[in-house]
Amino acid sequence: MVRFNFIVLVLALLFSSAAYADVPDENFYATEIDDVIFARIKGKSYKDDCVVPTSDLRYLHVLHVGFDGETHEGEMICNKAIAADLLDIFQKLYEAKYQIEKIRLVDEYNADDELSMRDNNSSCFNFRFISHTTKVSKHGLGLAVDINTLYNPYVKIVDGKVNIEPATAGDYVYRTKDFPHKIDENDLCCKLFKQHGFEWGGDWKSVKDYQHFEKDI
Ligand SMILES: [Zn+2]
Repeated sequence: MVRFNFIVLVLALLFSSAAYADVPDENFYATEIDDVIFARIKGKSYKDDCVVPTSDLRYLHVLHVGFDGETHEGEMICNKAIAADLLDIFQKLYEAKYQIEKIRLVDEYNADDELSMRDNNSSCFNFRFISHTTKVSKHGLGLAVDINTLYNPYVKIVDGKVNIEPATAGDYVYRTKDFPHKIDENDLCCKLFKQHGFEWGGDWKSVKDYQHFEKDI
């Protein structure tokens, strides 16, 4: 009888944990791109020449701690191949109270990256080909994420001239300086993305893209 009770208990535990795993988290979840979401991105981040089927994309809902220390809701569209990675990363960042100012669809900036970065928005999918090629960029595939973009700009030095994106991020180009929201190799966000197999743009040699994490699928 004791043994029977033990088996029942083990089975009950197994079933309850399986059932728990099937319940979607109400704060951190991924959905397919339905008509309502598609209407928000059509002709913006989902451009008319987009070659990525919407079935390859996912809409993410997450929570994040803003620069005001309060909880905020975030929305992001990414490739389905990294949806689980991003949900885990954003959940861990939230639990650690890591501050991300805004996680909004780039469509709220009319899919204009420069405007989104100037507003320090964090985002992922924005369809585009790599300049002068027919190759789709990592953001175009929804396989790259930019975090706290104003404080962590893209920096390219050509013939001694410094190119910065966003153009308003001049105060954050020199990374030996100490300032809040700086992503470096000791930063939790950077560590989590790397643990999930992402490459960090701050490790690149020819250009530096401190806000950028991408995954090769
Ligand atoms: Zn990027």
